[in-house]
Amino acid sequence: MTGMPGMTGMTGMTGMTGAPGRGPRVAVVGGGLAGISAALACADAGAAVTLFEKRKHLGGLTWSFSHDGLSMDNGQHVFLRCCTAYLDFLDRIGSAGDVELQDRLDVAVIRPGVATASLRRDKVRAPLHLARSLLGYGVIPFGARARFAGAALALARLDLDDPALDEETFETWLFRHGQGPEAISGLWDLICLPTVNLPASEASLAMAAKVFQTGLLTQSSAGDIGWSRVPLGLLHGERAATALRADGKWRGASGWRRGRPPPLLHRERAPSRGLAWSCPTV
Ligand SMILES: Cc1cc2nc3c(=O)[nH]c(=O)nc-3n(C[C@H](O)[C@H](O)[C@H](O)COP(=O)(O)OP(=O)(O)OC[C@H]3O[C@@H](n4cnc5c(N)ncnc54)[C@H](O)[C@@H]3O)c2cc1C
Repeated sequence: MTGMPGMTGMTGMTGMTGAPGRGPRVAVVGGGLAGISAALACADAGAAVTLFEKRKHLGGLTWSFSHDGLSMDNGQHVFLRCCTAYLDFLDRIGSAGDVELQDRLDVAVIRPGVATASLRRDKVRAPLHLARSLLGYGVIPFGARARFAGAALALARLDLDDPALDEETFETWLFRHGQGPEAISGLWDLICLPTVNLPASEASLAMAAKVFQTGLLTQSSAGDIGWSRVPLGLLHGERAATALRADGKWRGASGWRRGRPPPLLHRERAPSRGLAWSCPTV
């Protein structure tokens, strides 16, 4: 990725320090999306925050690099309208204007040997918003489409606080609710795989129910898809670095000399590999 302003000339660490003597002192380890969010929340609440990141950039798993003149992204590719904490985060770091968010969910489903189908929501209440699209969803046979509604309604009614949901795979639950292999691979896994990162055969019912309830079954606009118009390294890491400094609670690390730890910090071997930095006084 392109270097962050004020982050050049550093080895093994990106660090930012809150103004000394203000509020409680907080150390945040890791400058991925979670760490940046935590650091900003603490700083906004008045804490003097030090954020430690062992790599040279913020953003964690979401970063960009150049190849043959093209900017390539690693990490998160899409988000949904129901990801409200993420949208607030983008707003906080000044990146909200650099993402695209569909007016309404509209996805082309392309499968070998089957005419391209689409999942598109209508502007009616959930879960009816997908009914018309699913009735015409030619990827699975008509009988399977008709049986989908019963399972979807049962899924919407599950109590997410019930620990029993974690005792069963999503697939066994789907079988019990009239869903066969065609419906599972052609429809349920289309959503389960990219969101839970597992097929229905391996996903817990609890995880799948959370995703489907939040993203598709309770609010019609929740599943609208968003993506970045700029490289992820800029959208998250560079903007976060700017936001962390811009509110006056932070100082950049550019003044730290190459290869030398700043005065308060000592160097440690990270648990996995590489080097991390920590502050022994916190
Ligand atoms: C290829 C790919 C595709 C993805 N697609 C999507 C998607 O489409 N939608 C979606 O929502 N999500 C997606 N994700 C997941 C999403 O990117 C991650 O869940 C999210 O970025 C994780 O953020 P995090 O802050 O929890 O962890 P991380 O990004 O892992 O951040 C942890 C940070 O801590 C640092 N660190 C670790 N140990 C130390 C230490 N000892 N000292 C200092 N620093 C340390 C690491 O260097 C890292 O920067 C995808 C991920 C990948 C890899």
